[in-house]
Amino acid sequence: MELPYFNESVIFTNSLEENHALIKDEFFNAVTKEEYLEWPESFLYNHGWNVFGLRFQHIDIFDANLLCPILSNFIKKYDNLIETAGFSILSPGTVINPHVGFTSDVLRCHLGIKVPEGDCCLKVGGVVRKWKEGESFIFDDTIEHEAWNRTNEDRVVLLMDLNKNVLLKDFSTIKIGGTTLYYAVPSTLSELKAILDFSGDRDLQFYILGNGSNVLISDEDFRGVVIKLSGTFREIAFHADVKCHGR
Ligand SMILES: Cc1cc2nc3c(=O)[nH]c(=O)nc-3n(C[C@H](O)[C@H](O)[C@H](O)COP(=O)(O)OP(=O)(O)OC[C@H]3O[C@@H](n4cnc5c(N)ncnc54)[C@H](O)[C@@H]3O)c2cc1C
Repeated sequence: MELPYFNESVIFTNSLEENHALIKDEFFNAVTKEEYLEWPESFLYNHGWNVFGLRFQHIDIFDANLLCPILSNFIKKYDNLIETAGFSILSPGTVINPHVGFTSDVLRCHLGIKVPEGDCCLKVGGVVRKWKEGESFIFDDTIEHEAWNRTNEDRVVLLMDLNKNVLLKDFSTIKIGGTTLYYAVPSTLSELKAILDFSGDRDLQFYILGNGSNVLISDEDFRGVVIKLSGTFREIAFHADVKCHGR
């Protein structure tokens, strides 16, 4: 993990970006400034860094989840992957000093929700990047980073801490098994296709998991993609016009 930024570390970012407009509308319709909290590490910034959190270290914040049901469902869909989630708001003039995150167990994901024109950037490991609305990226926050908003408008991003490796034991009935490099929960056929393309492009092995009742998952870490089929993939349809051959 030498690079400060990752664009595609976790397949779920595709789905996050597809839902961007819904997440944004929900935030601006449901959340008022009175509900923001100041970012607790006040020594890190001058002023104006606020947060509206839905999940903190895997504990859901009940009222916030009620206000934002679309995002709440999204977080629950990726329950094991998402450790912390909330909106991070930088007011005009906010400067966050260079610092490092407090754990190496997670990677940090930002989805641009409202990004003003002008000097409003993140710098990770010396590399400066500007957020873009509807686009996400992931970075290693154990690398020194800083941020600033020298514009006249708020900057809003959806911030998520993602478990670096997803534990597969949580998905098996007998509760054993190591980690997987990638874990994906497609909702639609096109998402499933994107995941298979992702695996194929990188020569990664993939494994289909259902409810995990008939699998024995190894304690050795799986360096591929585990695809959990649930939701619409649990439906079976019989088509009279499709013929099977053979015995
Ligand atoms: C305690 C216990 C009780 C059970 N009781 C019953 C019962 O009463 N009636 C009954 O019918 N069965 C029962 N079963 C069997 C079990 O429910 C079935 O075998 C079930 O269909 C397994 O599905 P799963 O989604 O858990 O598959 P998993 O355990 O996730 O996977 C099993 C295998 O199927 C593959 N697989 C899973 N989903 C797909 C998919 N969509 N496409 C392709 N491959 C896939 C996986 O790669 C893996 O090789 C029981 C099992 C246990 C352990």
